[in-house]
Amino acid sequence: MSHDAHPYIGFEEYSERVPQSIPLAVQQATDRFVGGRAARVAELPQWEELRQIGSDIRLHTIENMDVYLTRLEEKVKLAGGHVHWAETAEDARRIVLQIAKAHNVKTAVKSKSMATEEIGLNHALGAAGIEALETDLGEYIIQLAGTGPSHIIVPAVHLKKEEIAALFSEKLDIHAPADPIELARIAREILREKFLDAGMGISGGNFLVAETGTLVMVTNEGNGRMCTTLPDLHVAVVGIDKVIPDWESLTVFLKLLARSATGQKLSTYTQFITGPRRAEGESGPKEFHLVLLDNGRSKVLKDPVGREVFKCIRCGACANVCPVYKNVGGFAYGWFISGPIGAILSPQMLGTQTARELPYASTLCGACADVCPVKIPIPTILRHLRRRVAQGDEFAGPTLPAPIRVTASIAAFALAQNRLYRFGTRLLPLLMSIFKRGDWIPNAPYPLNRWTKARPLPPFTAQFRGWWNVRSSKRKDSAR
Ligand code: SF4
Repeated sequence: MSHDAHPYIGFEEYSERVPQSIPLAVQQATDRFVGGRAARVAELPQWEELRQIGSDIRLHTIENMDVYLTRLEEKVKLAGGHVHWAETAEDARRIVLQIAKAHNVKTAVKSKSMATEEIGLNHALGAAGIEALETDLGEYIIQLAGTGPSHIIVPAVHLKKEEIAALFSEKLDIHAPADPIELARIAREILREKFLDAGMGISGGNFLVAETGTLVMVTNEGNGRMCTTLPDLHVAVVGIDKVIPDWESLTVFLKLLARSATGQKLSTYTQFITGPRRAEGESGPKEFHLVLLDNGRSKVLKDPVGREVFKCIRCGACANVCPVYKNVGGFAYGWFISGPIGAILSPQMLGTQTARELPYASTLCGACADVCPVKIPIPTILRHLRRRVAQGDEFAGPTLPAPIRVTASIAAFALAQNRLYRFGTRLLPLLMSIFKRGDWIPNAPYPLNRWTKARPLPPFTAQFRGWWNVRSSKRKDSAR
């Protein structure tokens, strides 16, 4: 994958920069979430019904997004807020910078926002001389580490407490013990000062309620409230896909989200923001700006199969059960959003030219679809995107190199012809014996050399039919 526009670790750097402990740390943390989710779901007999309702609401909203976004804009303005439409990531960065400069902002405090990760906002603010400080503990840790998030809801899940203590000691020039409570205290002390000094609070949002123009934030730390109430200026950058019709819909998603994400009945803080403060003496910012980010979403919305990705409520449950994610960790997905949801979102948002490997980085076991609280058919979308990569469709041309496509077409034709297939099973072992060294093929010709660069290939023996015939005749003999 190409990472020119994003400050994340790419595939090439992955093996060099990722410590060996990542899979273990990720496995331990995700196993805890899986257990918690199962316990909370078991308490709710109507869970499957809720999932279906959640899925239906999201699909309805996707199909009528223009209506709900128009209503949302109207209501936010009515509540005294400002609405900005950002067609691209660059537009969104420019809008936030303009607002910051107009208010002479020197420091911005941020509450966890995937949308600002998506647009690379911290770099843009830094380049403009504005200090942007992440205040969610996990985000603060990875900001110090200089990497991106490795999990949707637990961005520093790959780090153990000893590694975080070493990071704090190095970057903050203190002696930090490997004690989670002590580490949280250190971060809290530093961040409290920043909350009080900051000229601007920047947040994302979990949902946007069109009915009243309300931004909903679901968090487990108090930092979100501080970011959005202490500074006089609050800017929320939110993807257009976060809009939902009304408060009744919200009750469904709140029930689904916390249970699926962390195994809680409800997250610790659920915050509702409808415009800026109305009168002196009330808490909250004097100015509220909502930046509605498109950045390729409208294009994806045209694809009736792929657009179901926008049903996602970012709970991370799919990553917690994914056997691939648990073994490779989040950085291997290359973009800010990892796991099965990243594997269907990134190729659609960035294009299959940039992220064509991701639809293939799956065993298609279906565990993700089984746990998804809004029933996103992840394996179906993965296959849909694989087809796009291999053959192209109305949304994008094929991106596999021509020799591989030709080889695949020949193989598909040959496999469908019985005689040709039988002839091939005799010919192939002979051809491969030219490259065989001992029991393995260490250097295969193109395109198989892409595999043998990393590991040797076992020779094709094409023994299945022979094995099957022997097995069948043995069973017949024993049945007589
Ligand atoms: S795809 Fe489903 S399970 Fe995965 S993060 Fe989104 S809502 Fe959660």
